Amino acid sequence: MESCGDKRKNQPKEPSPNKSKCSKTENAAASESTEGPYPTYPRPTPEECGAVRDDLLALHGFPQEFTKFRTARYSPGPGVASSSPLPLVKSEPIHGEGDEFLSCPETTPLESRNESVLDGLVSTLLSQNTTEANSARAFASLKSAFPTWEDVHAAEPKCIENAIKCGGLSVTKTSCIKQLLKGLLEKRGKLCMEYLRDMSVEEIKAELCSFKGIGPKTVACVLMFHLQQDDFPVDTHVFRISKAMGWVPTSADREKAYLHLNKRIPNELKFDLNCLLVTHGKLCVKCAKKGVHRKKVTSDQPCPLSKYCCITEFKRIKE
Ligand SMILES: [Zn+2]
Repeated sequence: MESCGDKRKNQPKEPSPNKSKCSKTENAAASESTEGPYPTYPRPTPEECGAVRDDLLALHGFPQEFTKFRTARYSPGPGVASSSPLPLVKSEPIHGEGDEFLSCPETTPLESRNESVLDGLVSTLLSQNTTEANSARAFASLKSAFPTWEDVHAAEPKCIENAIKCGGLSVTKTSCIKQLLKGLLEKRGKLCMEYLRDMSVEEIKAELCSFKGIGPKTVACVLMFHLQQDDFPVDTHVFRISKAMGWVPTSADREKAYLHLNKRIPNELKFDLNCLLVTHGKLCVKCAKKGVHRKKVTSDQPCPLSKYCCITEFKRIKE
């Protein structure tokens, strides 16, 4: 399970009367939070980000699994981010995924608009170390067994473990959910996290990280998918492909890659680019982890990202 540990450098800092006496390390940390860990590293450029997004969109179409989040992001309603949707290119997807190409917000189901922030956070917790299908099953099973979060809070841990067993790591995830609900109730007096919608990105990061068991990657996913903020989570696919394309230094760890990419990628491109890179990492035979792709859909097509990087480097790059 992730833990925040020393990842709090993004939190707003208290004004310090002894600022001039700050140590070199403190100054470096403060500078990293405002400029990112690699302020002189010039990639990716905004043009590259746009080109990669367009290439991947032409190849895959907009991935169906993310359309409900895109709809929530760009549909009018409370809590919607200010950035406007980019027009999606009118190209035919190469691999017969035309029915998965993004449809108009007006014609897409709006179920995600009814999803609470707490629903989104728990579903993100359940998605750790398992497939999308298994975590969706685990969440549905949890909601079926315990319709309200008050029910989950009151339930015996063993009963929750049984309900979410199909998503794996049920003991750890149950403990995390129980602690979250307990902490939330103590802090706010009710099991509701809609108050996060009125906070800034930095305030949300600080707030979510104050709950035990919620780490930076979970926070980034909640920001992007469930709070419609412009944030760019770095999962295993995004991390691997970003390194291969030289978008982050080869020495970067995932946390530094997250900070750097969030500084470099234009806000209005973050959501689409992230969804497309994750999808591409799962589907492309050349970019998939260890060269193993989950679905054989791109094996006959050249990878559009090969022009941005040396593809043969992929297998040499270790996470
Ligand atoms: Zn590829």
